[in-house]
Amino acid sequence: DSQLNPVYTFDAFIEGDCNRVARRAGKTVAEKPGATSFNPLVIYGGVGLGKTHLAQSIGNEVKHTHPGKVVLYVSSEKFINQFMDHSRNNAVNDFIHFYQLIDVLIIDDVQFFSRAEKTQDAFFAIFNHLHQSGKQLILTSDKPPKDLDGVQERLLSRFRWGLSADLQVPDYETRIEILERKMKNDGLDMSKEVVKYLAYNISSNVRELEGALISLLAQSSLNKREIDLELAKKVLRNFVKTSSKEITIETIQKMVCDFFNVPYDKLLEKTRKREVVQARQITMYLAKMFTKNSLKTIGEHFGGRDHTTVIHSFQTVKDLMDTDLLYRESVMELQQKIQLAAM
Ligand code: ADP
Ligand code: MG
Repeated sequence: DSQLNPVYTFDAFIEGDCNRVARRAGKTVAEKPGATSFNPLVIYGGVGLGKTHLAQSIGNEVKHTHPGKVVLYVSSEKFINQFMDHSRNNAVNDFIHFYQLIDVLIIDDVQFFSRAEKTQDAFFAIFNHLHQSGKQLILTSDKPPKDLDGVQERLLSRFRWGLSADLQVPDYETRIEILERKMKNDGLDMSKEVVKYLAYNISSNVRELEGALISLLAQSSLNKREIDLELAKKVLRNFVKTSSKEITIETIQKMVCDFFNVPYDKLLEKTRKREVVQARQITMYLAKMFTKNSLKTIGEHFGGRDHTTVIHSFQTVKDLMDTDLLYRESVMELQQKIQLAAM
């Protein structure tokens, strides 16, 4: 038994800017397990952003398209517990041999390997054997491999052999799409108004979004009433991570200026100084991510630039985030600040 949950499919995993690289890498791996340079494939990102879903989608897809392959999904906790059981029974070799027979091994949440030295030794042996035999490894983690304190350097260096791809918080439009897909799957009906309200107010992660949808459903059936905006507002008031403050373009502009130490008025002028241009582009990107304003309105907040400038900035930031790790970290730090400010 592969221990996979069949509901986790690529089809159900909505693609957006937040997960495009990871999702496509996952697809590639599922098509040619063990035969691409994405080995291991490390999927990392915060809680509720789809690591387990995506990792399991790969497994389910492989089972479908390569029925002969042995696929196994295991959580790190289970892996560690199994190891300790075998260790107590002097059967570590059996443990290692068992895992060495797998074609596609998915280990979820490897951050729990931290400081489990003996388990890491066994995993090192398994990893080497599988990798050398052209078998596929897929790992997930709640942080980038370089930040996995307590994991042996020899393992981390092997994680770098393949591809590390991250999952980010979905932007507003992707959140709407995710909600609409969930509603369709569950045969639910909700006005666009309510969907937008949920997507706008719940920007922490996908699990929270699903949680809100479920509370809303429960309330509507309990009270035998339709899900309308009034009910949505009532339910969300009791929902933990609701944004209470509306994030405005001005708020984002101020935050970015503080962060990069760029004077506010420079953002609105035509200055072409590198750090000003960078701050301006990132602000436009974040404004598109975190506010409901149209591209036109966003442009107007930058000394009357037009919407094509905003589109260009958005694309530039996305491209740079894919290629420049330091840049990406700055943008992600800003995203976190904004999310905090919205709570
Ligand atoms: P993680 O393992 O990163 O904590 P999960 O994979 O458990 O997150 O995802 C949390 C929930 O959100 C799951 O129900 C999952 O199906 C859903 N989810 C996450 N990302 C997406 C997405 N891009 N499209 C649709 N559903 C998603
Ligand atoms: Mg998970």
